[in-house]
Amino acid sequence: MPAEQLHEPWRSLVIDAHGHYTTVPAGLRVFRALQISLMGKPVKGAVNVSDDEIRASLEDGQLKLLDERGIDVMLLSPMASAMGHHFGSALVSRYWTEVNNELVHRVCRLYPGRFAGVCSLPQSPGVSPRECVQELKRCIGEFGFVGCNLNPDPSGGYWTSPPLGDEWWYPLYEALEALDAPAMIHASATCNPAFHTTGSHYLNVDSTAFVQLMESRVFSDFPRLRIILPHGGGNVPYQAARYRALGIMNKWEPFDEFITRLYFDTTVYSQEAMELLIKVVGVDNVIYASEMLGGVNAIDPASGRSFDDNRHLVHAVPWLTDEDRTKIFEGNVRKAYPRLGAPAAKI
Ligand SMILES: [Zn+2]
Repeated sequence: MPAEQLHEPWRSLVIDAHGHYTTVPAGLRVFRALQISLMGKPVKGAVNVSDDEIRASLEDGQLKLLDERGIDVMLLSPMASAMGHHFGSALVSRYWTEVNNELVHRVCRLYPGRFAGVCSLPQSPGVSPRECVQELKRCIGEFGFVGCNLNPDPSGGYWTSPPLGDEWWYPLYEALEALDAPAMIHASATCNPAFHTTGSHYLNVDSTAFVQLMESRVFSDFPRLRIILPHGGGNVPYQAARYRALGIMNKWEPFDEFITRLYFDTTVYSQEAMELLIKVVGVDNVIYASEMLGGVNAIDPASGRSFDDNRHLVHAVPWLTDEDRTKIFEGNVRKAYPRLGAPAAKI
C-alpha cells in the first residue's frame, strides 16, 4: 500500500529507528581492503569518497525507500555485519569504526532532518568497554549523533566477553547515562560457523542480552540507562511466559516491570509478530523500525511487497488507537533517543 493511502489523521513524524548505511560507496570497501593488507601495521588513512558518491548511494537506496514508504527520518548507523569487532587488533577496530562513523556523519550533514546518526563502538574482544567512551563522546558531542550500537559479543559468535550485567561494562553505561544517550544492542557478523549472521546470531544476541540484563543489577545501578532491543526483541515476545516464570523462580525483578525498562523495535515482518510484540511489551515500549536496507531485502511472494516495508503492519493492528501509533512512530522514539529533541521539534 503506498504511504499516502495509509490512514493517518494524526500524522506525527514517522521515524524509522533502525537503519544501516549498507549502500556505502566503493571507496569505503577499498579502504577496508587496504586496511586488511596492512593489518600488522594499522594506520587510519583516508577514505576516498566524494559527496556526490554519498548522494548517489542514498538517493537510489534508503532515501528513495524512505520517500516511497512515507518515512520522515531514519536513525542511521554503520553497516552492522561489517562492524567486524573480532577482526584484527583493537587499533584496526578503532580506525575502521571511526571511518564508518565519520561517513555516517557526512550523510547526516548532507541530509539534515532525514538522517540522525547512531555510532558503532570500537569494540574488540578482551578490550575494556572503557576504551569505547572516547569515540562515543566524539560521535555524540562533536557529530550530534543520538545513540550507539552496542555489541554484547565482540568475539563474533564465541561469547568471550563477560555478560552485560558484569561491571566490566559499567564504564560504558556511566558514559551513556552522562550523555543521555541510549545503546541499541546489535551484533556484528559471526565467525562461528554454527551461526548464520542475520538468521540466528543477531536474534540469539538479542534474546541473550535480554536475559543477561534481566538477571543483573544494571538498571538498579543505572536507573537512567536506556537500552533498545532490536529485531522485535529476539524471542522475548514469544517466550514471555518463560521469562515471567524465570523471574519468579530466581527472584529477579518481575518480568512486567523489567520489560518497561527497555525499548523494543518493530523489525519484525508479519502481522502476527507485530501484534504479539506490541501486546506483550506494551505500546509505551515499542519504537518503529524497519532495518532497511539489508536484513530482509526480498519480496514476499504472498504480498508482492518487500519484507522490510513493514510500516503498514503497525497501521493494521486493529486495537491500536491513533495516539498509540503516534507513540510508536514518534513519541517513543524520542523517549528512547532524547537527543532527537522534544516532540514536534525539527530534528
Ligand atoms: Zn540492524
